[in-house]
Amino acid sequence: MDCSQCDEPAVIYREYEGRALCKEHFSRSVEKQVKQTIRKHNLVEDGDIIAVGLSGGKDSGVLLQILHDIFGERPDIEIHAITVHEGIEPYRTESVETAKEMCDRLGVPIHIGKYEDEYGITMDEVMVKKPEMHSCSYCGVFRRDVINRKAREVDANKLAIGHNMDDEIQSALMNFLKGDMSRMARLGAKTHKVPSEQFMRRIKPLREVMEQEIALYAQVNDLEVHIETCPHAQGALRADIRNFLNQMEEQRPSIKHSALSSIDKLLPVIRDEFYGEASEVTPCEECGEPCSQDVCRKCQLVRAVKDK
Ligand SMILES: [Zn+2]
Ligand SMILES: [Zn+2]
Repeated sequence: MDCSQCDEPAVIYREYEGRALCKEHFSRSVEKQVKQTIRKHNLVEDGDIIAVGLSGGKDSGVLLQILHDIFGERPDIEIHAITVHEGIEPYRTESVETAKEMCDRLGVPIHIGKYEDEYGITMDEVMVKKPEMHSCSYCGVFRRDVINRKAREVDANKLAIGHNMDDEIQSALMNFLKGDMSRMARLGAKTHKVPSEQFMRRIKPLREVMEQEIALYAQVNDLEVHIETCPHAQGALRADIRNFLNQMEEQRPSIKHSALSSIDKLLPVIRDEFYGEASEVTPCEECGEPCSQDVCRKCQLVRAVKDK
């Protein structure tokens, strides 16, 4: 099959828009979509210092590449990569190497935060010592803490994350199925409100690109990405929803696009009702990070993990 726009062979047939695209036209179209998302939601502004959460995997790798291509020459915008090493071997050491190579190639400074240095414990150790505490949500609390602190060290005012269209729809459906509307209200292309200057505004420039197209983008543009998934990964519900969505998309192309559009129409309404007022923010008694209790959740978890 040839490209609908030129004579080159197609790398993809987009059933949802009924056209085939060659490598060049496909890549330009993905980049155009990301630019559109950035413009529509005003994700990047003059003077921004953007920290990119870079795991070494395909989503964050493509995100860093495209942001660098769009803004790399702009003197008023800075880009830094923040990479977290949770101490999961050999998976993380390998992906951190990939992340370093990406940054070297693009000339983007990389800042690596390790659980071992920050909390004196690795996730592999948590698995052994506290198997009951092994959970992606705990690991996520630590990861956000490391990323926020590293991002503040470089004076970043925004944190760009590689969430794609599939991630966003999966999260919306998960929150819906769990009845968690205040979480649902926190979805969207950027953080709706930040309760304190110390909180980083998160932006999701890849939010309107399907996961499958991000993988293809990485492949046709020869981006070296780390493919393995975390060996401790859980999340049966997300995996089920993911399979369900992929199956639906196969049978009814464009269903993901319409799902995302529904989410975007619902978000303002859900936010009005469920976002709630930002709760009072005070420094954590132990680490000084902004939090809504005396001791932040991260410090409570660190305590629980170390408690023999
Ligand atoms: Zn073409
Ligand atoms: Zn704390």
